[in-house]
Amino acid sequence: MEVDWSAVDKKWQKKWAENNDHETNSNDKEKKFITVAYPYPNSPQHIGHGRTYTITDVHSRYLRMKGYNVLFPMGFHYTGTPILGMAKRVEANDTELIEGFKTLYKVPEDKIKEFAEPVKIAKYFHEEIKSGMIEMGYSIDWRREFTTIDPAYQKFIEWQFRNLKEKNLIVQGSHPVGWCPKDQNPVSQHDTLGDVEPDFTEYIIIKFDLNGVKIPVATLRPETLFGVTNIWINPQVTYQKIKVNDEIWIASPECARKLGFLEKKIEVIEDVSGSDFVGQSAKAPHSSDSIVILPASFVKSDNGTGIVMSVPAHAPFDYQALVDCKSGKNKSINSDLLSNIQNIEPISMIKTEGLGNIPAKDIVEKMGISHQDDPKLEDATKEIYSKEFYEGILADNTKQFAGKKISEAKDEIKEWITKIGSADILLELTNSPVKCRCGAECVVKLLSNQWFLDYSNKDWKKKAHVCFEKMNILPNEIRSEFDKVLDWLRERACARQHGLGTKVPWDKEWLVESLADSVIYMAFYIISKYVNKKEINGNDLTDEFFDYIFYGKKDSGEIANKINVTKEKLEEIRNEFLYFYPVDSRHSGRDLVPNHLTFFVLNHVALFPEENWPQEIVVNGSVLMAGKKMSKSMGNIIPLREAVRKYGADPLRLTILISAELLQDADFNVEAINGIKNKLESMHENCAKTKSEEIPELEPEDKWIFSVLQNLASNVSQSMDKIRLREALHHILYDFDSELQWYLKRAKSKQRTNISGILHKILSSRVLMLSPFAPHIAEEMWEKLGNSELASKSAWPSSVGTEIDSKSIQTETLLKSIIDDINNILKVTKISPKKIIIYTAEQWKSKVYNSILKNVLDGQTNVGTIIKSLIANKETEQIKKDPDFVKKTLNDILSEPAELRKGRMSVGQIDEREIISSELSSLVKNDYNVELDVFSESDSEKYDPKNKAKNARPFKPAILIE
Ligand SMILES: [Zn+2]
Repeated sequence: MEVDWSAVDKKWQKKWAENNDHETNSNDKEKKFITVAYPYPNSPQHIGHGRTYTITDVHSRYLRMKGYNVLFPMGFHYTGTPILGMAKRVEANDTELIEGFKTLYKVPEDKIKEFAEPVKIAKYFHEEIKSGMIEMGYSIDWRREFTTIDPAYQKFIEWQFRNLKEKNLIVQGSHPVGWCPKDQNPVSQHDTLGDVEPDFTEYIIIKFDLNGVKIPVATLRPETLFGVTNIWINPQVTYQKIKVNDEIWIASPECARKLGFLEKKIEVIEDVSGSDFVGQSAKAPHSSDSIVILPASFVKSDNGTGIVMSVPAHAPFDYQALVDCKSGKNKSINSDLLSNIQNIEPISMIKTEGLGNIPAKDIVEKMGISHQDDPKLEDATKEIYSKEFYEGILADNTKQFAGKKISEAKDEIKEWITKIGSADILLELTNSPVKCRCGAECVVKLLSNQWFLDYSNKDWKKKAHVCFEKMNILPNEIRSEFDKVLDWLRERACARQHGLGTKVPWDKEWLVESLADSVIYMAFYIISKYVNKKEINGNDLTDEFFDYIFYGKKDSGEIANKINVTKEKLEEIRNEFLYFYPVDSRHSGRDLVPNHLTFFVLNHVALFPEENWPQEIVVNGSVLMAGKKMSKSMGNIIPLREAVRKYGADPLRLTILISAELLQDADFNVEAINGIKNKLESMHENCAKTKSEEIPELEPEDKWIFSVLQNLASNVSQSMDKIRLREALHHILYDFDSELQWYLKRAKSKQRTNISGILHKILSSRVLMLSPFAPHIAEEMWEKLGNSELASKSAWPSSVGTEIDSKSIQTETLLKSIIDDINNILKVTKISPKKIIIYTAEQWKSKVYNSILKNVLDGQTNVGTIIKSLIANKETEQIKKDPDFVKKTLNDILSEPAELRKGRMSVGQIDEREIISSELSSLVKNDYNVELDVFSESDSEKYDPKNKAKNARPFKPAILIE
């Protein structure tokens, strides 16, 4: 029976809307406040976005069915530069962008014309995204919707900023930022192509002196200055002689450009060839030694200054380059120089336990490295660097630093070189190239007199660590990433010159940056409802208002007068805040771990008392399209609304969720969605067929199927609590099928006609469990099952109302395994049966069986030991006659699931003969149309022409087929 998915979607969406089912106010019930990162409306959402929001919706719906009063709201993040950039491109008639709007996003042409105005772009895609969310069936309380450029929101952000500044958490200063030279704006993840966060590192420049000209070398290991033997320059590179403030430097052109962004005045004097410097000598800052400059090909002009100091004892690259020089093969080394070089020996200056005197030499030889362009040198460098950093001690030749640990002395040495006027810093992107959305390559800029969030503040970090420790993080394996991010975070620019958003309240030249105005907005969902109802006026909101709502400061009556609302209304909002806060769960994609999610915690711990700190973070991976990454250039982006129209909301939701657990990448493909559709359609058909009848007195198979159902419900609930949605869906949709088939077979063979009520109950539970995932079709199924209430408003079936009946589980497992055995025998012998005879094991064997089972449950699986203990016991000493029986029984037990073993122990002995006589005959009759005879092994009258009975074991009776 085919389902008209679109009709089903609309029917139930209409019903939910009519009943205001997703509007949540405070009440007497326990609440859950579930939020998800609000979308940035610069394009319609595609299937990839759908994953995060669908997971959040399933979570919300599940908790609602568990009895919580769940609030799931949504806002729209207009702040930032990307929309502005798009508007500029539309104005400039950028055909590629406009073509994309038309063909990929299907934006009407008259709308595109308006897109030169940034807000028009945001509004258009805002409505588009919202419609998609409604069509996906998300249970959002739309009364609380807002955008980040609404006047009330801007007042809220101003309050946040003033508050942070008062706490000295927003500071003015000079700090490095990722920077777009074209836009003249700081850049973070949302501003770059491919959404990469610019990441940078600080090099120390040590300046050597060549007749008054500085030869600057960039290093991460200033302490190794004491081991310098020479300087490396690349003879193939054209360097520049530049004026840096008042000094003359030799550096690569790339370095000269980078220095220009670090608050240095740079003037290029002339180009100079690297080869000109080979053989010259420069004075080291720490001694009177002259250090010779030698040629090396591993030195790259885009790295550091393009010149490096050589420490061959501790740096594998330097060691190998020195070996290469000494070999005489390098043409830029003349014979005089070559004979000089032979005297250069590595200077050991760090002692590390486990490493030799010249560790670079040892590792180069160990790794079989034979030239300086060998990529293995990278690994060699890392290995020595980290070992020496953590365990190395500075040797006697390091003067005042001798005996200190590297990890401690590093900064002291840096300071010392700076003091003697020979150091500088160079900041470099570690993940370059990073491209701005405008196409320009980003750099690191030292930004002065800028506003920064002081994320390097130690107390602030500490508080955030405390919050993370208390928080639930799903999946927990991502927890350490948060700790790392927190430790590495430093000052972060929080103002921009361009874009949409809120002005920095005390410096109106600047706008609040988009990763700074999106960190505590969950609190604003409480207020936005009243703004939208026009019960408070956004323009009226003051800091006092927010202080009252969030902190309960001052008298409500006094504040009410000033902002033209009633005292009662203010108290109502305050109470609603107290009711819904803190955020119980925050959902987001994995890409927001290093920024938004960490900032969300940092700002909450800074601005809210501990009882209002976030409780949980849930992180999910992305969606692949038939195994490939989704991208515009691949042309494989499917807009969400288009997919809903094509496949229906529920098949889409399930397909996105069923292929992966949280952190894994989900895969979307057409076969999968068709499989899901078929499954849902057959379930729907069953619902229409299954009548709700009275449940009869329970037969063994009924007790069993209810036990299986109860197990299913417990397993699904456990998976849901951990947001292991893939696992939960598999349980609900597939894991139960073979059990149900068995049950139907059992009932049919017993010619029962009274199981409809039982089937109805089973189906009802499965439909309810399906409801958070596939809310539309679940309502439809629920209605077909004869219910007048909504499935989404019913209680989650954690318990199906029957106890787990361990004995029935043992019974059915026994029956199934006998049927399997009979089938196997028939398959092998290819006979058509005329009669089937079954022999159950003797009484003493059961005692032995239980004894072995107990051994296994206690962790004892050694046959010899078990046999010894059995012989030692009078009750089981008979196994002396048949030690093989022990081995076989032990194998029987070990091949069964642990759960079943435990159940067997608790149930104790069951009367196999009785069960087989009463329950198996009908099955045998049904399956093979023959009679069944059952004997006990100990039965003296038994029919046993082939002498089979002696092979019987507990739960493994012997079978004779004639
Ligand atoms: Zn740019």
